[in-house]
Order: sequence, then structure tokens, then C-alpha cells
Amino acid sequence: MSSETFKGWIGVDLDGTLAEYTTWVGPTYIGRPVQVMLDRVKAWRKEGKEVRIFTARIAPINDCVMPRGMLTFQPRTPRDREAVAALRATQEWCKVNVGEVLPVTNVKDYGMYELWDDRCIQVKSNSGLTVAEAYEQRIKNDYVRRGVRTTKMPDSMKLK
Ligand SMILES: [Mg+2]
Repeated sequence: MSSETFKGWIGVDLDGTLAEYTTWVGPTYIGRPVQVMLDRVKAWRKEGKEVRIFTARIAPINDCVMPRGMLTFQPRTPRDREAVAALRATQEWCKVNVGEVLPVTNVKDYGMYELWDDRCIQVKSNSGLTVAEAYEQRIKNDYVRRGVRTTKMPDSMKLK
């Protein structure tokens, strides 16, 4: 894969991130869209960015199912069949709410450069600290070093 053709993709969780979620109803029930997140996804798509729905609902499938791609997965258990039903419901939800069917996956690969998820806790690279902890530490260090209180978040800690 050359760097000229590499575009990568943004993973967007479904339940609680792109769609409202309070309690489990069933594999084919997906909540109403979270408007702010839906608008963000649509804007990314207009910019030509690839967005994949990243959801545990399809966990046994362990694949990236492209919009018109064939599903080679062979369901054997009730949970497998539930995953296929959830996949179809997710694709339909996308068609109705996003205006197009997005790829659906539960697999992370080297192309994923961002993941938006209500369960994620972002860590600052190579530190083991959450972004909030790293920011707090930076403020404390600045205060000790220079006697000033930093109020502006350093660019290195901002989300891209
Ligand atoms: Mg979620």
C-alpha cells in the first residue's frame, strides 16, 4: 500500500455514539440517531472520508462488510444468526439515517486512524495517561517551572 493511495478510515461506534442507546431491546432494534454525531459523519462523507460503523453487534462475523459486499460468514449458532440480523439492521439504519450504507466492522486494522466510541478512554501516546491526566500534569509542571498557570490546552494534546 503506497502512501499516495492510503486514505485510512474513521471508526464510529453505533450504540451510544451514532445512535441513542439506553437498554438492549434486540439485535435488529437500533435507536434514533444522535444528531450531532450524525451531522459529523455526513460532513466527513462529503469531504470524501471513509467512515466505518464499528460495532460489537456483529462480533462473531469478525470482518469488514462493505456496502455491496458479499457476506462469506456462515452462521452456525443463534448468536451468529443474531449478528447477521444486526448487520442487516445496521446497514438499513445507515441507508435511512446517513443516506447511504456504510461499511460495518468490528475489526481494527492499520487503516483506522480515529475511533469515536462512548466507551473509549483516550490516552496520550506513550504515557499511559488519559488526555485529561496528561493535561493536568502539564499544567502542574508549568506552574512549578514557571510559576504560571497554563489555561490553554497545548496543541499536542488536542484532538486532531
Ligand atoms: Mg457504544
